[in-house]
Amino acid sequence: MTSFNQPLGGNQMPRFGGPATMMRLPAQQGAKGLDACFVGIPLDIGTSNRSGTRFGPRQIRAESAMIRPFNMATGAMPFESLQVADIGDVPINTFNMDETIRIIEEYYDAVLAEGCTPLTLGGDHTLPLPILRAMKKVHGPVGLIHVDAHADVNEHMFGEPIAHGTPFRRALEEGLVDPKRLIQIGLRGSGYAPDDFDWVRQQGGRVVTAEECWYRSLAPLMAEVREQMGDGPVYLTFDIDSLDPAFAPGTGTPEIGGLNTAQGLEIVRGCRGLNLVGCDLVEVSPPYDTTGNTAITAAYYLYEMLCVLPGVKYRG
Ligand code: MN
Ligand code: MN
Repeated sequence: MTSFNQPLGGNQMPRFGGPATMMRLPAQQGAKGLDACFVGIPLDIGTSNRSGTRFGPRQIRAESAMIRPFNMATGAMPFESLQVADIGDVPINTFNMDETIRIIEEYYDAVLAEGCTPLTLGGDHTLPLPILRAMKKVHGPVGLIHVDAHADVNEHMFGEPIAHGTPFRRALEEGLVDPKRLIQIGLRGSGYAPDDFDWVRQQGGRVVTAEECWYRSLAPLMAEVREQMGDGPVYLTFDIDSLDPAFAPGTGTPEIGGLNTAQGLEIVRGCRGLNLVGCDLVEVSPPYDTTGNTAITAAYYLYEMLCVLPGVKYRG
């Protein structure tokens, strides 16, 4: 029998009972002894329209209660392979963005120092900036798979350099991301200027709009992404507003004509084989998630991210 942590089963405690940790895993303080962890960042002071993502981590945990350990589609057996726990939330300063960014970076420094791969429950999309700053100290510049309706490469928002629409501009400026190993998938909607999506291309990255994804399986695209990423470290950042609002309405800046739930799964599952060093799922806003479907989808995507981490065994 395995000595790895296991999610609490539905025959040990009803799925609607017990503490609401991610997948009903054990909770622990800090990442010591873990191969991977789920960690929340209850952040929404970076949002530009509807807020509420501060409640994202808590709601994703609540809606993760149904997820069972084995991945029936892919054969992944993450809890036979890795030591995983829920290490709780990063204690951000909700009154001070600069201080919050510093707190997050320090927190991830400590997680990475334990050799633990973080799977982050957001929180608004400002949060990859401090995470990538921590990542660079350990891994150097990473490849980035950025799934989103938006490019999030604004120069400023209302004059501020740090907000949920700027993190990847800052990350590229600071050399946290290798621009040749950057891809943005799902971009769409209206812009401030006709060339809004061109800046990343000018840096050497690839942009795949939502329209290029319509009516298609994304498995062939992900084969190209694996080629682009190679063997180097890769970070996956998944903004839930990449999905169509029909599937994920509970988010702050919805755009019509988005990806469907299966296409999102194809993207995450298509990361199998990459040297993933961290993942996040951001922009779930429970106050706008009247059915809970957005948080359920987010919880499953985070589980699927765990399933494609290096070292996960698959059914033979
Ligand atoms: Mn975003
Ligand atoms: Mn977005």
